[in-house]
Amino acid sequence: GITRDEEIYDYLFKVVMIGDSGVGKSNLLMRYTKGDFNIESKTTIGVEFATKTVTTQDKKVVKAQIWDTAGQERGAVGALLVYDVTSAQSFKHVADWLKELKQYADNNIVILLVGNKTDLRDRREVKKEDAAAYADQHQLAFIETSALDCSNVDLAFDRIINEIYKVVS
Ligand code: GDP
Ligand code: MG
Repeated sequence: GITRDEEIYDYLFKVVMIGDSGVGKSNLLMRYTKGDFNIESKTTIGVEFATKTVTTQDKKVVKAQIWDTAGQERGAVGALLVYDVTSAQSFKHVADWLKELKQYADNNIVILLVGNKTDLRDRREVKKEDAAAYADQHQLAFIETSALDCSNVDLAFDRIINEIYKVVS
C-alpha cells in the first residue's frame, strides 16, 4: 500500500454527501466518523471532509475521504444522496441532485440513496417502498437511516465503500 504520514492504505476513495439542506448529511457523517450527533447543527458544524479507514473482507485497507460540501463531485467515486423521510420535498429534489451528479461526477460513480430521520415515525412523508422503487428505476443502492438513533448509519457508509471497492478492484 501507499504510506503517508505513517498511515498505510491500499485505496483512497473520495465520497461526497449531497442532498437538500437540513436532511442530515452533516449529522450522518459526524455519527459515522465520530459517533456524535448535534441537535442544533447548522451549516457551520463539522468540517469540509472527514476520513475513515476500513478493512475489506479480503483485508485491503480502504481510506474513505467523505466530503460534506456541495460542489465537490469532481473525482468522487461514490455519493450518498440524502433526503429526509419527513420531507416529500427533499425526496422530490433527488432527481435534481442526480442531474447534478450526471453533469459533474464520474460516469461510473456509485450512488447510495439514503432516506434519513426514520426515528421521526409520526412525521414520515416518504414511503420506504416508493423510495425503493425509485432507486430501482435509477439503478441506485438504497437504505434508510437515522443519525439520531444510529440505525443503519455504519451500514450505509460500509455499503457504499464496499460497492465502490467492487467497482474499482
Ligand atoms: P444537513 O444540512 O444536510 O447537513 O443537515 P444537518 O446534519 O445539519 O441536520 C439538520 C437538522 O436535522 C439538525 O437539526 C439535526 O439535528 C437534524 N437531524 C439530522 N439527522 C437527523 C435524524 O436522523 N433524526 C432527527 N430526528 N433529526 C436529525
Ligand atoms: Mg450540513
